[in-house]
Amino acid sequence: MRRKLAAGNWKMNGLTDSLDELRSLARAHPDPAVDILVCPPATLIAQAAQVCAGLPVAIGGQDCHTERTGAHTGDLSAEMLKDSGACAVILGHSERREDHGETSDMVRAKARAAHAAGLMAVICLGESLAQRDAANTLDIIAAQMSLSIPDTSTAENLVIAYEPIWAIGTGKLPDAAQIGEVHDFIRTRLERRFGPGAGRGMRILYGGSVKPNNADQVFRVPNVDGALVGGASLRAEDFSPIIKALSQTG
Ligand code: PEP
Repeated sequence: MRRKLAAGNWKMNGLTDSLDELRSLARAHPDPAVDILVCPPATLIAQAAQVCAGLPVAIGGQDCHTERTGAHTGDLSAEMLKDSGACAVILGHSERREDHGETSDMVRAKARAAHAAGLMAVICLGESLAQRDAANTLDIIAAQMSLSIPDTSTAENLVIAYEPIWAIGTGKLPDAAQIGEVHDFIRTRLERRFGPGAGRGMRILYGGSVKPNNADQVFRVPNVDGALVGGASLRAEDFSPIIKALSQTG
């Protein structure tokens, strides 16, 4: 059985005051039926991990370097994230692929580094609108999967987030059939590559404009094991009903 996961990506948002949102979130879900992960900016990871110690909210990073140490000004290694209190890291988000020219090969190397440091890698995949309109979605996902996911992946240390780029931050939600088609495709390929046991155990999140008012329709789609939530994860009053909707599904 896969445990459901509600993951929040704060992106470049959040100052010390925002830690109150984590306290409120944990208070609203003292004994959640699902896993909760919040990925604040790196500046808040250590404090967030302290705030959430003993509470059912885990903390993650939003990126890591491929190397453990070295002359890489401004970068953070997976080991540093782990040392700050993170247990997971988002990798290959489309904003990093676009803003920083991250390729799937780089994402795979980062995921390998995350695994070596004992972090769970949340690897993001997704097509652009032009790719979808050209009926290339599944080819794009297949290519991103084979290049971005390292062989070190297991059901415990890998989560896939399917995030159509055109749905991120736009308020445009794919319909259930579109989400289902991609999630089923990802599941089949994970099972083929990692075997039915591990492949069936790896969680697949949907991400892109998940809000309190549409979360339940997303979570009813088969092979959706939770969500990666951007904007609506910043405030406990928005993220909390999404977590509740996930707890109430399946
Ligand atoms: C994201 O960027 O990972 C994301 C899902 O953003 P939003 O929920 O704001 O669309």
